[in-house]
Amino acid sequence: MAALLEQEARRQQEGLELIPSENYASSAVRSVMSSVLMNKYSEGYPKKRYYGGNEVVDEVEKLAQDRAKELFGVPHVNVQPYSGSPANLAVYLACCRPGDTVMGLDLTHGGHLTHGWKVSATGIFFHAISYHVKSDGRIDMNEVRRLAEAYKPKLIWCGATAYPFQVDFEAFGEIADAVGAYLAADIAHIAGLVVGGVHPSPVPHVHIVTTTTHKTLRGPRGGMILVTEKGINKDPELPEKIDRAVFPGLQGGPHDHQTGAIALALYEASLPSFRDYAKQIVRNSKVLAETLIRRGFSLVGNGSENHLMLVDLTPVFGSGGGVFAQMVLDAVNITVNKNTIPGEPMNAFYPSGIRLGTPAATTRGMKEADMERVGQWIADVLAEFRSFRLPEEKDKRKSYIEEAKTVIGSHPTITRVREDVKAFCLKFPIP
Ligand SMILES: *Cc1c(COP(=O)(O)O)cnc(C)c1O
Repeated sequence: MAALLEQEARRQQEGLELIPSENYASSAVRSVMSSVLMNKYSEGYPKKRYYGGNEVVDEVEKLAQDRAKELFGVPHVNVQPYSGSPANLAVYLACCRPGDTVMGLDLTHGGHLTHGWKVSATGIFFHAISYHVKSDGRIDMNEVRRLAEAYKPKLIWCGATAYPFQVDFEAFGEIADAVGAYLAADIAHIAGLVVGGVHPSPVPHVHIVTTTTHKTLRGPRGGMILVTEKGINKDPELPEKIDRAVFPGLQGGPHDHQTGAIALALYEASLPSFRDYAKQIVRNSKVLAETLIRRGFSLVGNGSENHLMLVDLTPVFGSGGGVFAQMVLDAVNITVNKNTIPGEPMNAFYPSGIRLGTPAATTRGMKEADMERVGQWIADVLAEFRSFRLPEEKDKRKSYIEEAKTVIGSHPTITRVREDVKAFCLKFPIP
């Protein structure tokens, strides 16, 4: 195990992390995660526990709650969800009965699995209707309104996992009010941008907010559910329904070490330096997007308004070429993830795009000029392998990809760029 930890530390130090959902928590956050708090069982909520010995844990959880309420400006919060997906499931359990109609952004258009995708429990237990983005990459608010009026969903999700624009929470709020739906904003990706003041807050317009704590918020892996003033006005029992859905509805004992680390991360996010961090994430994303566009790449929506961008690789590799980009970039220590693009011509396993984001790189202290350099490297290596094509015949794909891997592995451009990327990354220590 020690050897594996060392290998992973080296991989992180010598590589450039561009997966937009990843980040580096501070060493203080990591030390709370491995603290004595993890030895405790504390089913229930502060002052209402099923186990003894929770005097200190009660204070830990109240601290996390108070900081979250203050930072987001909400009257109620639940900090116990194990992660973002269980937080979302708790919202369904609190607001819906099995089989109720719900609405969310289609997965292949940037939505999350838990917004009703067919293989997710949320798509199996509920009747999920999807809305989409238009050809300009932006959410089709006319479609959202039309579907909401036609299907009268019990719950509407807004927020996304692969969407390069700001979300118009106000427009969603008007639509949800018109049809009497609960409106939940899933800000898993953008919570840090909201707190940092570079993305509008959903709080005035929605009833419920869910988030992860480990993406732009830069805390431990975890989740939170916030209930807004508007949510309590719609349904005074909403806070209690959410709490009961998390425990005992879905979970047993909370992860107290995670709760403690969330409290610390929320403190870090309240500092002025975090606002600078959030601003820099967005600036870096803009520069990376502009660099790629200048080098002739096609971006969904032609840019980035937040921390991420989607590169449409159909002009480079044809349909389903995201896998080649991910492989080529992996070979030069740049980590990205293949991703579907709106109107995906292939499928979610062989998607035609990649998703790039700047939260992790920005934590390491990289700035605009660094992002330009990174963009040039990405353009250089992708151009080198633009003759790769995913075979039409399904049974030929695996062997073609294996062969491509061999070609990439021994290519001089790859060796050269990998050494450049490694030397560059070593100048930016990770916490
Ligand atoms: C990441 C993400 C989640 C799920 O978070 P996990 O912690 O991976 O379960 C939920 N919603 C959105 C929009 C996300 O991006």
